[in-house]
Amino acid sequence: MSRPSTAHIRLSAFLQNYRLSKVLSGAKSLAVVKANAYGHGAVQCAQAIQHEADGFAVASLEEATQLRDAGILNPILLLEGFFEAAELHQIVALDCWIVIHARWQVEVLTKTALPKPLHVWLKMDSGMHRLGFLPDEFLSIYQQLSQHPNVANIVAMTHFSNADNLASTHTAQQIAQLNEVVKNLPIGAVSLANSAAILRKTPMFNASHWVRPGIMLYGTDPLWAQQATPELLPVMQLTSKIISVRHIKSGTSIGYGSMFTAQRDAKIGVVACGYADGYPRSAVNAPAAVNGVMTKIVGRVSMDMLFVDLTEIPNADVGATVELWGDQVSANLVAASANTIAYELFCNVKRVKFIYS
Ligand SMILES: *Cc1c(COP(=O)(O)O)cnc(C)c1O
Repeated sequence: MSRPSTAHIRLSAFLQNYRLSKVLSGAKSLAVVKANAYGHGAVQCAQAIQHEADGFAVASLEEATQLRDAGILNPILLLEGFFEAAELHQIVALDCWIVIHARWQVEVLTKTALPKPLHVWLKMDSGMHRLGFLPDEFLSIYQQLSQHPNVANIVAMTHFSNADNLASTHTAQQIAQLNEVVKNLPIGAVSLANSAAILRKTPMFNASHWVRPGIMLYGTDPLWAQQATPELLPVMQLTSKIISVRHIKSGTSIGYGSMFTAQRDAKIGVVACGYADGYPRSAVNAPAAVNGVMTKIVGRVSMDMLFVDLTEIPNADVGATVELWGDQVSANLVAASANTIAYELFCNVKRVKFIYS
């Protein structure tokens, strides 16, 4: 038997979640598949929805090239645009769209001779203060670019910093900032929403708008602690198997640092999955499911292995399947137990077998 750690990727769930992003928003939807589709496999995910996807978004030309090489013909947006002037010709050749977020990019774009004009998404900094132009400089940049022969058309975009917090008024302020500026411009298309903004169902879209769902496509709800969206289907199920079962006496400590000490006689399973596979080392008491029964991990996660408590699962023996996250075990809860977010868990998955269905 080879090492049993496996990420099962359900592409039909990915397609359903993509459709949900369109239904909830009523807008065009750019599927965000950066970082290898949040660790799920960019080519496989893109191919699963290419026949109905309005487009894809990635973080770099390398990621876009991977999709084009796999035969993806849909629009592809580079979320940070280009990083150096030398990329521009290849961007034209690959027929990608670019975000323009900084003055140096405007200078490079307007000074380079291009064989074809580019589709530009001009980014406004409406309150995130990471990338983009402040509202008072946005207008002049827009005018400069809209008259330039290298620019085919412009979508006004912005990115929310607090959309996953329903109590925050920040998102409404950011929407107002963008609307205030674009109302005087002949811009047809705008793009604001990430997954959290789509799922909170704030009315802010129309059919010419673009939404940019990421994490929701992978079946994870960034608003999970505040509201439920039962239609979201988990895409990744991370499983492994029990490779050893130990019966320990009350008072026995196990693993590195003797982090867990049994308070009763206990049955412990050793699972072939560790932080080298992407399971977070910082996880404490994270949920797991063994043979379909909920339990929790105990002790320190090590590089190749972790422990689960089997005391209440008498039938669990060597070879039992352990779900580390997926259908029964919420990736959000595992992430919370490790002080992080599911995005990071997914991006970190490696070394395991990937099985696509
Ligand atoms: C990553 C990213 C998204 C997707 O965010 P989610 O929270 O995963 O939905 C949307 N827009 C931009 C600009 C991004 O960088």
